[in-house]
Amino acid sequence: MLIRPTYYIDGDITDLDQEMLLEAGIKGLILDLDSTLMAPKTGSLDAEADRWLARARETFKIVILSNNKRRDYLDAVEKKLDLFIIGHAAKPWASGFEKALEHLNLTKEEVAAVGDRALTDILGGQLFNIRTILVMPLKSIEEPALKTCLRNIERSLARR
Ligand SMILES: [Mg+2]
Repeated sequence: MLIRPTYYIDGDITDLDQEMLLEAGIKGLILDLDSTLMAPKTGSLDAEADRWLARARETFKIVILSNNKRRDYLDAVEKKLDLFIIGHAAKPWASGFEKALEHLNLTKEEVAAVGDRALTDILGGQLFNIRTILVMPLKSIEEPALKTCLRNIERSLARR
């Protein structure tokens, strides 16, 4: 099934084991932004995500691929994190992944897409033929109940 990720993490991105990624031959990460790395609309990292990212950027090439269309917001985040952000990505479609791969200057075998949504982040990565990692939204985010419910349905489908 196409929304089934390569790796399924029972935790948020800060629980993603960077040693495991290295051992799996991953050299570059295509990270989702909203809910995966940062709480939506906040423009800043929580302490745990900040630590995880600081470690990750020592080891991996990183690019952010987001469906967020607010360029002014993304520009501010890009500056703050000092990471290249491709916005308005229209995941699951391939065009954004193509740009991300080009930016990383790595092969498809060497990169993985990380995200909290099966139908965009994971489906997109699988269609693009790269490895994918489904994470939970950041623990620091309080999600509306309906959104959590829809996400759980998506996750249970992705798990089959
Ligand atoms: Mg997201």
